[in-house]
Amino acid sequence: MRQSTLFGRTLREAPSDATTPGTQLMLRAAIARPLAAGLYTWLPLGFRVARKVEQIIRDEQDRIGAQEIRIPVITPAEYWKETGRWDSLEPVTFRTRDHGGHEYMIGYTHEELVMHHARNEINSYRQLPVMVYHFQEKGRDEQRPRFGVMRGREFLMKDAYSFDIDEAAARRSYNKMFVAYLRTFARMGLKAIPMRAETGPIGGDLSHEFIVLAETGESAVYCDSDVLNLPVPGEEIDYDADLNPIIKQWTSVYAATEDVHDAARFDREVPADKKVHTRGIEVGQIFYFGTKYSDSMKAMVAGADGAEVAVHGGSYGVGVSRLVGAIIEACHDDAGIKWPEAVAPFKAAILNLKQGAEDTDAACEQLYRELNAKGVEVLYDDTDQRAGAKFAAADLIGIPWQILVGPKGLAEGKLELKRRSDGTRENLSPAEVVARLTS
Ligand code: ATP
Ligand code: MG
Repeated sequence: MRQSTLFGRTLREAPSDATTPGTQLMLRAAIARPLAAGLYTWLPLGFRVARKVEQIIRDEQDRIGAQEIRIPVITPAEYWKETGRWDSLEPVTFRTRDHGGHEYMIGYTHEELVMHHARNEINSYRQLPVMVYHFQEKGRDEQRPRFGVMRGREFLMKDAYSFDIDEAAARRSYNKMFVAYLRTFARMGLKAIPMRAETGPIGGDLSHEFIVLAETGESAVYCDSDVLNLPVPGEEIDYDADLNPIIKQWTSVYAATEDVHDAARFDREVPADKKVHTRGIEVGQIFYFGTKYSDSMKAMVAGADGAEVAVHGGSYGVGVSRLVGAIIEACHDDAGIKWPEAVAPFKAAILNLKQGAEDTDAACEQLYRELNAKGVEVLYDDTDQRAGAKFAAADLIGIPWQILVGPKGLAEGKLELKRRSDGTRENLSPAEVVARLTS
């Protein structure tokens, strides 16, 4: 894409209501723009990141055999009334009526709706285990929408749901999802630590939040220092082993959010020598809630002996919108964002340092054509800004590789390739640059 045509302009100064470095950069780098408190429009750069985040999540859900569906945003009151959450969620939801007077709310989450489908689609233990997921906007009338897209009133979530015949099987599904989450966040270049958590309005008694450590994070957390260095599971993992060694390692090293009121009911405490107190951003949460929803909604299946039992459920959420904000919060310096390559809006940026000069224009156009033809996503700064302004904009936007094309280097047949993450620079021929970015 040519930067001269990009919709959304970068800002030299952040608006005064942006409170954290990440939210300032989100606005300055034209990632998203507010429409009202907690309601954001993604601009092209931010939307490209959100789509990549979504695709990584989808990949890892598919890998563990979860099946993608799509439940509506507008959800009928009748299902929420079956579990009693129509009343309890009243203060935090957006509601409306149709012209026939029927009540609806914008989904705050989707347990009731998916449970409604499960009770119709599943009637035998032979159809279990099964997991489904969807990407859908959620509406939550947050009391304090803040931190940009990280606490919005409408945001995109991936929520998955598991159905199993009994608790042991349900815990295996939980473990599978636990590992999928570890892999998902690692692929985005994030270190997200699973922490024991309260279950809140979702219910149940087993839950982990996945927390990206950041000093500006909303959640106060503590953990055993060992948890900071555990390896992320690879492909070889045996999900079916009840407690395989990797999951055992992750869950036996204690970490929790400070709002866990009743730590005693969890496995164990962290020894005071090893206790690290810090802050972080919750990017995902998983729950095992047993038969809480299936009891009240009568989601029954016939077991092997023919007897009807309530299905055991779990739910598993990841905030796509919040992740984009959390990545910025975790990956930046004073000059701007440093996107991890897997989620960057573009892989490379071409900076024409003397726009309008025949030799630099020709070299940039040639490079732009060649990289596009080879499938490298590239943003070409073809604006008439001076070199200094282009350097600043490129650092702010945070594309992982910058290709600097100036008359001096070109005279010797060289371009400069700068890596945004650590600032290292190399002088290379155009062919070498292309080879580097396509290898
Ligand atoms: P929080 O404690 O931060 O309010 P939650 O525990 O209510 O979040 P869940 O119901 O667990 O959130 O939702 C799953 C995921 O959805 C969260 O881990 C988070 O990534 C994301 N999320 C929740 N609320 C918001 C919001 N207001 N804006 C953006 N993302 C959100
Ligand atoms: Mg949560």
